[in-house]
Amino acid sequence: MIAVVGSVNLDLVARLEKLPTPGETLSARDFDRIPGGKGANQALAARRLGAQVRLLAAVGDDQLADDALALLRAEGVDTGHVTRVPGTPTGIAMIEVDDSGETTIVVVPGANAALRIDPSQVADAQAVLTVLEVPDEAVSAAAAGAHDFFAINAAPARPIPPDVLARADLVVVNRAEYPKIPGLETARRVAITLGADGAVLLHNGTQVSTSAAPVVTAVDGTAAGDAFTATLMLGLMRGDSESEALSTACAAGALTASRPGAQPSLPTAGELAEMLRR
Ligand code: ADP
Repeated sequence: MIAVVGSVNLDLVARLEKLPTPGETLSARDFDRIPGGKGANQALAARRLGAQVRLLAAVGDDQLADDALALLRAEGVDTGHVTRVPGTPTGIAMIEVDDSGETTIVVVPGANAALRIDPSQVADAQAVLTVLEVPDEAVSAAAAGAHDFFAINAAPARPIPPDVLARADLVVVNRAEYPKIPGLETARRVAITLGADGAVLLHNGTQVSTSAAPVVTAVDGTAAGDAFTATLMLGLMRGDSESEALSTACAAGALTASRPGAQPSLPTAGELAEMLRR
């Protein structure tokens, strides 16, 4: 079982030809409410690849919560440890996607900012995965409770408590996040995602592996990094070589970027295998 300690958001997605500049008002072509949040996305990504997954997260006591959790519940992620925070809204992300797949995202943390967990809630997991859309207290408790593999998707970027960084078997960041997080240059194992250019893997700041991403028509980059992170972690846990796990993760990210939305775009094991055969 994999425990994910992270965020749940409802994504409010507007699609339009080009992103507005500051002060500009543009009309969107369409609008969707889509389950998202980096914690929830990574939980569902791992689930679609066949893992048993427990999500530890916080939502509000509003109607948005049920929409945000709908796909996780439907697909068998254990949401029994998801708490409802009274008087607080469910996290939302306001996302604009342009015709080239470029996005701007404003996250309103809501209940995610109130997430606290007890380390014992993840102590039975074979792997614990966390993200930075939840408070340091929750991230530190995830690290403290992890008995085996511990991974952190350090997004959105902020300094990571040194004991958490030292504990991490894997840190995943994108290229914009990497320079914003002190200590990554000496971390044991860091994957840096490079969008359409694939990803690199570093050990103690030295590049040990690199992978191109399959060429796809990018539609929406939302959750590409989430699919990448879950896939890389599962590959390493399965005993794949680092280069094999990295290229499989790049394929999962590319597939996700080729489809709209956060959770709906995450690949299943079958879709990923099909992509790798091509
Ligand atoms: P994030 O979503 O966290 O910003 P990236 O944009 O770097 O992360 O995407 C994560 C991974 O998804 C990349 O390493 C790559 O493998 C894949 N990916 C993302 N965008 C594309 C794209 N346009 N074409 C092909 N692969 C992509």
